[in-house]
Amino acid sequence: MSQALVHAVQVRKSYGSTEVLKGINLDVNAGEVVCLLGPSGSGKTTFLRCINQLEEIQAGRIFVDGDLMGYKDKGAKGGRLQRLKDKEIAAQRREIGMVFQRFNLFPHMTAVDNVMEAPVKVKGQRRSAVRAEALELLEKVGLGDKASAYPGQLSGGQQQRVAIARALAMQPKLMLFDEPTSALDPELVGEVLEVMRDLAKQGMTMLVVTHEMAFARDVADRVVLMDAGVVVEEGAPSQVINHPKHQRTKDFLGRLRSEHERVAEAAAELI
Ligand code: ADP
Ligand code: MG
Repeated sequence: MSQALVHAVQVRKSYGSTEVLKGINLDVNAGEVVCLLGPSGSGKTTFLRCINQLEEIQAGRIFVDGDLMGYKDKGAKGGRLQRLKDKEIAAQRREIGMVFQRFNLFPHMTAVDNVMEAPVKVKGQRRSAVRAEALELLEKVGLGDKASAYPGQLSGGQQQRVAIARALAMQPKLMLFDEPTSALDPELVGEVLEVMRDLAKQGMTMLVVTHEMAFARDVADRVVLMDAGVVVEEGAPSQVINHPKHQRTKDFLGRLRSEHERVAEAAAELI
């Protein structure tokens, strides 16, 4: 099939009577990095959560690698859908790695145990086999020497890198990132973006919500701008970021720039 790895069609999601996603169409091709931009409250997190089935959608379809997420299609075109069983949904979710703004590591477990947890518990793999892979993943995110450290002994940037290694341990087809550097001190942002950059180079399919414009410009194959539950504009990063067509994109980028400038000025005053 020539279908994209992520193929979202007319996705609608409401909380109560408030519609948050108003018919999102979005594709991510295999091996592609797509950055999802947009103002706070535009529905970016909700959309990622829908892909990963942490939320049920009210209309539309989401396919990941050809699988209809969350539902069984009961035949007839556009026909009725039947919700999959929890176990089947869990199996679909296992194929998708997700990294959140907050790292959510298990505080009572070492870095390597955090990375091993899902393959051991969910896939029932042998600890000895998984351990070697987990150590390799920690090496890959630059934390080969921190395997025995507890999250409380690691910086935010290091914890987020463990969280990325933990997601990779399940050998996902797709990685979803939700503002993975937003909760970090500025000096720790770079090390996390560097790991994500490497992952992109190795061909991982990634959908990344971020406000890091330099990352979007350098790493993304495509950027998508969302606002108020719709996709406003999408295209090559150089085009959307440097030559936005839509007023809402211009407004968003303008606000982001003045915010950056304010932060830079405040930092300069401190020095
Ligand atoms: P973004 O990630 O782009 O900032 P979100 O997806 O978090 O946006 O939120 C989109 C809208 O949905 C916001 O108006 C938010 O208040 C609302 N929302 C998000 N989660 C919930 C929820 N669990 N219940 C009700 N409203 C929600
Ligand atoms: Mg969000």
